[in-house]
Amino acid sequence: MTQNSRKKLIAGNWKMNNDVAAAAQLADELVAALPEVPEGVEVLVCPPTIDLTTVAGKIADAPIALGAQNVYWEAAGAYTGESSCDMLKSAGCTHCIIGHSERRDYFHETDEDQNKKAHALVAAGLVPVFCCGESEEIREAGTYVEHVTAQVKAGLEGLELTSADQVVVAYEPIWAIGTGKTATSDDAQEVCGAIRETLAEMFGAELADGIRVLYGGSAKPGNIAELVAKPDVDGALVGGASLKAADFSAMVVKAGE
Ligand code: PEP
Repeated sequence: MTQNSRKKLIAGNWKMNNDVAAAAQLADELVAALPEVPEGVEVLVCPPTIDLTTVAGKIADAPIALGAQNVYWEAAGAYTGESSCDMLKSAGCTHCIIGHSERRDYFHETDEDQNKKAHALVAAGLVPVFCCGESEEIREAGTYVEHVTAQVKAGLEGLELTSADQVVVAYEPIWAIGTGKTATSDDAQEVCGAIRETLAEMFGAELADGIRVLYGGSAKPGNIAELVAKPDVDGALVGGASLKAADFSAMVVKAGE
């Protein structure tokens, strides 16, 4: 498989923004802005859990997929506040973000937690969008490639993948998230390339060649084209810019140019 045969993925992480009415409005705006998406590009939005069914209804006939921002690995039971894979599926999700640095930092989630989530999602037929990335201190210490590839190994260990579409990886340097500091496209390529090499060690070269590796961290309409022009950057996980339909749809269009 050549790099060009991997479809680009532009994924929006709405984080804890938009109540049900605001989510419905943003979904309506996205559907209007994206009656079709460029060939070779896929679009995913990940609203808060409370908004999932509303957004699912709005995007049902649009070329936009739905993802959650979190999942718990058990099937059911006394886990107050959590949602299972089957619950996400019943709400219309096909994807789920896991391992986001905000979950790791604020909610003390570990690599082991990510691994359990990844296994549960893949077993349920949902696609984990597995986030990894280094802090500013690790970047400055120069050990960022080792750090990120260790996260990938720990988070995705033991998955028995039969298709490259079963998982997406998002490289999100923490120092670039929500800060306006984008990694250069060369920075993104360096780590996304190393992630792909790690995926090849784990799952074989052929599968790794088809797995989408995204960049995330202040991605916006002005830098998306340069990022996706890199051979191992297959799209973006977008925070802030995904909350404005005009910006997000512009990124989708630019990713396809
Ligand atoms: C994110 O948190 O996933 C993210 C990439 O945020 P932002 O685009 O706002 O930096």
